[in-house]
Amino acid sequence: VRVLNVHRATRIISIETDNSDPALIREAADILRAGGLVAFATETVYGLGADATNPEAVAKIYEAKGRPALNPLIVHAAGVEMAEACVVADLRVERRGDVASLASALAADYWPGPLTLVLPRSGMIPDIVTAGLPTVGVRVPRPLIARQLIAELGRPVAAPSANRSTGVSPTLAWHVLKDLDGRIDLILDSGQTDVGLESTVVDLTTREPRILRPGPVTAAMIERSLGGLRVHTAGHRESVSPEAPTSPGQLAVHYAPTTPTVRVETAGDLARFRWPDKAVLLVVGEHDLPPLPAGITRYVLKTPERAAHELYIVLRQCDWMDAHAIVVVPPPDRPEWAAIRDRLARAARPWEKDG
Ligand code: AMP
Ligand code: MG
Repeated sequence: VRVLNVHRATRIISIETDNSDPALIREAADILRAGGLVAFATETVYGLGADATNPEAVAKIYEAKGRPALNPLIVHAAGVEMAEACVVADLRVERRGDVASLASALAADYWPGPLTLVLPRSGMIPDIVTAGLPTVGVRVPRPLIARQLIAELGRPVAAPSANRSTGVSPTLAWHVLKDLDGRIDLILDSGQTDVGLESTVVDLTTREPRILRPGPVTAAMIERSLGGLRVHTAGHRESVSPEAPTSPGQLAVHYAPTTPTVRVETAGDLARFRWPDKAVLLVVGEHDLPPLPAGITRYVLKTPERAAHELYIVLRQCDWMDAHAIVVVPPPDRPEWAAIRDRLARAARPWEKDG
């Protein structure tokens, strides 16, 4: 029996996302089957996987991440059938307009892909995975090796982002190593993740579907799949009591660098900003910048796709530069930027203009 690998170096094996290596997949699945932790790339960020049906294994995820026990984990399935076994809903029915057929329409259109469906959970999923909630978030990840790993285990895999709780999510294997070395058994390194931002989470247990965490699959894409049915998008903006978050992505501080990070809402305000000695500027979206003091390191991420792909690498790099502040100009409040604005709102505190 394997125990949590504390005080021992974590092993890394390099593997191509879409080029299967049956022997390696079997080795990784064996670790999961023995109750161990394996980090692997999904299309969103690196996930920290454990056998979702094994409560002791799932407990190690919370321990390794330092994650509060009230934050539920997303369950990853190898395909629609395995996802269906995790929930009380039929994911393969015709479109009828009830919850099950909303779920099956979304599964058909976006799986495998970066969309998590929150549905009533089945008896297969233990309490610890959902933090006691009667619902479970489930999705089918896109990379072949992720699905092969889960299929080889033959059981769903609970996999939150493979970083320390409240920190910046990992989009490279070394991000995982830096945060979790000695705390997990294995990292499957398949390079930078494709999308770079966490999945969209949509709750289908309420009367109207509700986006709990905006992500790569936009509200408009979901509404199109559901034949124009309105989808609530306000969930992530509302203040939620920390004792009872509907969704951990709703916690106020999340995705945050350790360097003080300030959000300056418009580029024009930068002219009035009192810059500390050593600052890093991160401009997201198209902005006309006022003249800036010399010597400020500057990153510009112009499109939503590029911002998703690079945001966490840039935030970790800014952190590593030992600046006194990271200054972020967020993108405009438009639907295509919703996911990035959401992450930046949690990573950075607003600049007090008159303070
Ligand atoms: P993380 O593990 O940090 O990548 O994030 C996990 C995400 O899963 C959270 O942000 C939630 O939005 C979502 N989630 C998982 N299970 C549930 C659930 N039962 N109800 C609501 N949200 C969930
Ligand atoms: Mg996370």
